[in-house]
Amino acid sequence: MTTVTQSTGRRPQVVIIGSGFGGLFAAQRLKKAPVDVTLVAKTSHHLFQPLLYQVATGILSEGEIAPATREILRDQDNARVVLGEVTDIDLTARTVTSTVLGRTTVHPYDELIVAAGAGQSYFGNDQFAEFAPGMKSIDDALELRGRIFGAFELAELATDPGEIDRLLTFVVVGAGPTGVEMAGQIAELARRTLRKDFRRIDPTSARVILLDAAPKVLPPFVDKLGQKAHRQLNEIGVEVQLGAMVTDVDADGIVVKDGDGHERRIHAATKIWAAGVQASPLGKILGDQSGAAVDRAGRISVQDDLTLPGHPEVHVVGDMISLKRLPGVAQVAIQGGKFAADAVRARIAGRPTAPEFTYFDKGSMATISRFHAVADTWKFQFGGFLAWVLWLVVHVMYQVGFKNRFTTVIHWAVSFLGRGRSQRTATQQQVYGRLALEELGADFEVSKTGGQRHLGEPVDVTGRDSA
Ligand SMILES: Cc1cc2nc3c(=O)[nH]c(=O)nc-3n(C[C@H](O)[C@H](O)[C@H](O)COP(=O)(O)OP(=O)(O)OC[C@H]3O[C@@H](n4cnc5c(N)ncnc54)[C@H](O)[C@@H]3O)c2cc1C
Repeated sequence: MTTVTQSTGRRPQVVIIGSGFGGLFAAQRLKKAPVDVTLVAKTSHHLFQPLLYQVATGILSEGEIAPATREILRDQDNARVVLGEVTDIDLTARTVTSTVLGRTTVHPYDELIVAAGAGQSYFGNDQFAEFAPGMKSIDDALELRGRIFGAFELAELATDPGEIDRLLTFVVVGAGPTGVEMAGQIAELARRTLRKDFRRIDPTSARVILLDAAPKVLPPFVDKLGQKAHRQLNEIGVEVQLGAMVTDVDADGIVVKDGDGHERRIHAATKIWAAGVQASPLGKILGDQSGAAVDRAGRISVQDDLTLPGHPEVHVVGDMISLKRLPGVAQVAIQGGKFAADAVRARIAGRPTAPEFTYFDKGSMATISRFHAVADTWKFQFGGFLAWVLWLVVHVMYQVGFKNRFTTVIHWAVSFLGRGRSQRTATQQQVYGRLALEELGADFEVSKTGGQRHLGEPVDVTGRDSA
């Protein structure tokens, strides 16, 4: 395995882990600071997760919500983007170790900002993942796109009515914002977009079920908005089943236990997991070395100023942290990233840093269907068309890059004013790639940045032979 130790320049070295909301906004905030920024991330893009469900349901392309980080930071001369999965952080030696395809790099730092986010949690039932993909990455969204559109294709071919019903039943687990948006979009896809596309099946007869063990839809929102969303989902044909806990998932369906203890099976080819998150394992690495507590969801307890105990040079932001019940939303990560960058600037200038991170809650929103959303902002809680327009404006505003905003608006016009969806293409690799990689076994790292683990000899993946 090759090991490259990078030389520290004369300027302070700031290493940022993650190119999501926390990492990217921290890097941009350091644009004019007299530091060298190295942003290490395991993907080469910045992912706008809130619109993943639109990639999965054929409205947007993956490029529109995942611009290249390198391109975003192109004009920021003090920032360097490095592809690699961080496998270790040494708080004593002040180094971060990242790896990509067997090539290991050690990045020394003076200041470290960790923004590695969270992944999907199946609450200890990781075996469900095979049949119910989550919604955390571009890979997930494209796999789901293939499964959703593929289910209609297979239903058109099937002759057994039971099999057609199974193929046209879609179950979304988790009635939080992601699950609500996903279920709403599948219902609209079936009832509007695909209505006239098939000859033997009737896509409008598709069953879309939204399940949750909790007793209400959109738990983070005030009750009246949850009820409004529930009603709207029913109106567009989504069956909402609450108090229903998933106990098993397999290729043919899903088993749920209702509040009265009764177990029942739903025959469904397509299952989507939109429940539960598990923070990056880097939280545990940091917890073990700093003594900071790590909760069951893997979130690390940071101090009020987002640093680790005894390590004012290390900030952790975004979905990885547990602090004053802050929610796992983009604004917490964005504001945390900016706060950490400001602290870095202050420390380098020898100024005191702000003692406490204060989160400014700008509110929450969720779309349910075309022209319908709910918004919980400041003192105002409302739903319907106005909330939907607000949702559109805010989401375009926070997308990175003019080109992405422009094409997103065009694709929204195609889907919301018309009936079409411009991004219906799905390949076999998208549908089977994840499972095929898992079949390769434990010695093969599924991660894009991994590669074979048991490397005896150094591998030069830049060589012609391996190209
Ligand atoms: C489907 C979905 C919908 C959502 N909708 C909304 C919404 O409508 N509104 C809202 O406010 N929030 C929403 N969220 C939540 C929001 O996206 C997150 O709170 C936010 O992305 C957290 O930012 P972050 O920087 O902490 O992590 P992320 O944005 O997840 O970024 C983590 C980064 O770290 C990198 N990384 C992870 N591990 C490693 C490693 N070991 N080495 C190197 N790099 C690593 C990743 O590649 C990524 O670049 C949604 C989330 C999802 C999944």
